Amino acid sequence: MNLPLIIRAEEHSEKIAITTTDGSFTYRDLLHTSSQIATNILQNAEDLQEERVAFLIPPGFEYVATQWGIWRAGGIAVPLCVSHPRPELEYVITDSGASIIVAHPNFESILRSLPPQASLAEEHNLRFILTSETLPSHIARLPEVDITRRALILYTSGTTGKPKGVVTTHQNIQAQVTSLTTAWEWTSDDSPAETLRERILHILPLHHIHGIINVLTCALWAGAECHILSKFDAETVWNRICDGDLTLFMAVPTIYVKLIAAWETASRERQKSMSEGCAKMRLMVSGSAALPVQVLEKWQSISSHFLLERYGMTEIGMALSNPLHGERLSGYVGKPLPEVEVRLVDENGHLVPGGTPGEIQVRGPGVFLEYWQNPQATAKAFQDGWFCTGDTAVVEDENYRILGRMSVDIIKTGGYKVSALEIEEVLRSHPDIQECAVVGVADIEWGERVCAALVLQGSQPLTLESFRSWAKERLAVYKVPTQILIVEELPRNAMGKVTKPTVIELFC
Ligand code: AMP
Repeated sequence: MNLPLIIRAEEHSEKIAITTTDGSFTYRDLLHTSSQIATNILQNAEDLQEERVAFLIPPGFEYVATQWGIWRAGGIAVPLCVSHPRPELEYVITDSGASIIVAHPNFESILRSLPPQASLAEEHNLRFILTSETLPSHIARLPEVDITRRALILYTSGTTGKPKGVVTTHQNIQAQVTSLTTAWEWTSDDSPAETLRERILHILPLHHIHGIINVLTCALWAGAECHILSKFDAETVWNRICDGDLTLFMAVPTIYVKLIAAWETASRERQKSMSEGCAKMRLMVSGSAALPVQVLEKWQSISSHFLLERYGMTEIGMALSNPLHGERLSGYVGKPLPEVEVRLVDENGHLVPGGTPGEIQVRGPGVFLEYWQNPQATAKAFQDGWFCTGDTAVVEDENYRILGRMSVDIIKTGGYKVSALEIEEVLRSHPDIQECAVVGVADIEWGERVCAALVLQGSQPLTLESFRSWAKERLAVYKVPTQILIVEELPRNAMGKVTKPTVIELFC
């Protein structure tokens, strides 16, 4: 039996799967090229038997065909991040024990010069394949890959310690994808005029769950068209939206912020066409970090879309989502998605009553298999079969509100536990504050002190005194930051998420 994703692709073979600046590629093209890549990777082996294949390819058709080629050859795909510096690439290649690297020629020199490359090569018998190599015309008999086998290793950004490799099976991925395509009603229908054809614009990094699962794999599972941009650029994204043929868009909050900034500098006429392009879509989604209410409201005024916010994590796929139909609440991430069980527990592992904060724990077929070669970390991450996310939330009127990561966003100060996300939401309403990150900094007297890194708008100076007196009118006094630091920009990772440990260092 072929993988279900492949069987479904065979049913859509004449339809366009991927569009890039290089042109459009049908599902048939994807099936053919991925089988050539699988043949090439296999050499004369019958099955890669879960060998790890790391690949470093810019977003586009080659990326997708390689990912599928690895899966069809029976390997585990290990996507590398195109913007990562050498040590991080080396870490992922070494930790995953990759035996094959597939790379675009642009990355050949950086990969070949990885410091102990020679020893890597000797240890793992590392094979290097460039995407510019001619692919075989003869296609080998490809192995049957059972869906319970390992498919993907994604490295988590890791707030503490080294990143861990999150291993998902084909079955996990299928469960994550069917849950989302069901809840958000991805349709594979085509009317003759193709008006119902799902078209999604892909602008997210392809080493992270959001871009790989929620956008790319959901699209290909649904037989949709995925329009991939090689990198994010606000003007290019707006041009594509203005074309008016997209049905879906998914992004992280920082991308919406950048699109809003570009909208604000556009002419009236262009703004009108931008808004009309958005209005033609059926769904716009935000996730991977908290969506500030101001951003949601501004985006609604521009696009007439009330962004659908969802919550998820590399280890579990997507867990909570506002509804596709029905009321979406700003500041909330809704309810559990289909096939996902969610509960909130206290420090002793007991369920908390509604209205009381607790750790989010998740169970279901989409939950990952293990941390790669790290059984201790895997065992520690589960409690009675539930995955402990390390995130805190509260349920209010049956909807979940995320309070942040226990390790960095839940600040313990003077006997109180305060949510950095709640404080940030208030600080963003200050007329001079453009962006902010609130952190807890170790303190002998308070346990942790609430501190805020601020990016200001305009040239108005902001004194701690005036800031605190403004904040005291809006926040309980123990939540008001005692120290502020004005910064040019907040430190962020490749996904645009603020890296809080780096913010804490700014105050130490
Ligand atoms: P990642 O595994 O990189 O996708 O990161 C997952 C983490 O992002 C979660 O554990 C949360 O801390 C955070 N996250 C994801 N979605 C949201 C959201 N809608 N609101 C707040 N935090 C979120």
